[in-house]
Amino acid sequence: MKKIEHIGIAVKNIEEANKTYKTLLGAEAYKQEEVASEGVITSFFKVGESKIELLAATNPDSPIAKFLDKKGEGMHHIAFDVDNIEEEIKRLEQDGFQLISKRPKAGADNKIIAFLHPKSTNGVLVELCQEKNE
Ligand code: ZN
Repeated sequence: MKKIEHIGIAVKNIEEANKTYKTLLGAEAYKQEEVASEGVITSFFKVGESKIELLAATNPDSPIAKFLDKKGEGMHHIAFDVDNIEEEIKRLEQDGFQLISKRPKAGADNKIIAFLHPKSTNGVLVELCQEKNE
């Protein structure tokens, strides 16, 4: 794994959170993107080499809606940048980590992503992400 690509934060209201994080970080979100298949709307902010991803639910069945119901707003996941997501998935499975889905899928911000179950990573949802079209 190369670096922490971004940290995901679950928020109730994306517009309100955009304002808060714009003030906090001193820069506008460089991208807002809906991932309809996941029922989320996301905003991305640059912080040096890393990013902050705000995630809000677009429907009540969204995983983010469920997270907010259970835990409220707050840190949702840590995403690590990888060169080859297929190889990383294989390696991590062999090492006993539990993948939420074994096939990588399209994520926001031009990435292919996969999640590790927090059960196998001390309670933290871990995202692997690989830049598309490399
Ligand atoms: Zn993410």
